[in-house]
Amino acid sequence: MVKPKTEEEIELMRENGILVSRTLAEVGKIVAPGVSTKELNRVAETFIRDNGAIPSFLGYDGFPAALCISVNDTVVHGFPSDYLLKEGDIVSVDCGTFYKGYNGDSAYTFPVGEVDAGTRQLLDVTKASLYKGIEAAVAGNRTGDIGHAVQTYVESFGFSVVRELEGHGIGRQMHENPGVPNYGLRGKGKLLVPGMTICIEPMINAGRKDVYLARNGWEVRTCDKRKSAHYELTVVVRNGHAEQLSTFDYIENQIN
Ligand code: MG
Ligand code: MG
Repeated sequence: MVKPKTEEEIELMRENGILVSRTLAEVGKIVAPGVSTKELNRVAETFIRDNGAIPSFLGYDGFPAALCISVNDTVVHGFPSDYLLKEGDIVSVDCGTFYKGYNGDSAYTFPVGEVDAGTRQLLDVTKASLYKGIEAAVAGNRTGDIGHAVQTYVESFGFSVVRELEGHGIGRQMHENPGVPNYGLRGKGKLLVPGMTICIEPMINAGRKDVYLARNGWEVRTCDKRKSAHYELTVVVRNGHAEQLSTFDYIENQIN
């Protein structure tokens, strides 16, 4: 049984949502060919701490950094490294904050310089599928309605949904119930109720859906070596339509 959040809790989660959103925008400002993924992590960690929050990924189950940074065929949970981004890469940046007792969690896949048309379409479709998921995240629907909305949209473009990972409830814990798969059947899964706070986060592959776990025990990569994209927002379930607690506006409108 998932306990809905109070409006006071939702407000604190909105503060986290805005902070992760602004952090991703800071990262986006410096994504360019020649920049190391470690540098992206450094900028994010500094920004989070300067705002009085804690980077919640750092130390989570032993994860070594503030950000998960996943390049090209890495789907999620990539480690920041000395790798220098290059023209045509895509880099998925997943960010978590802990602030005033609650968590924020969002992700965005950035193109590095100019990317080819197929890659651009993968990014656009994955992000659009997240909004399709959010449209389905209304009280009275079920988690399967979200997954179904994401899956049918991305598969109509020939892309595939990673099955091994999913979205999740969020609150005092970064990962709470219910799980929110990116595939599924209408009317199946856990019931969505007003005040439920969830992260919807499609992980979409350009090619086949199959993934494997790298030897470091964290990084998830596509088996066919083709690219994968990841976008994530935190929303609160309401009657009629979900309300976003995090946003890509800071990234896409260059607002501060
Ligand atoms: Mg995340
Ligand atoms: Mg998440």
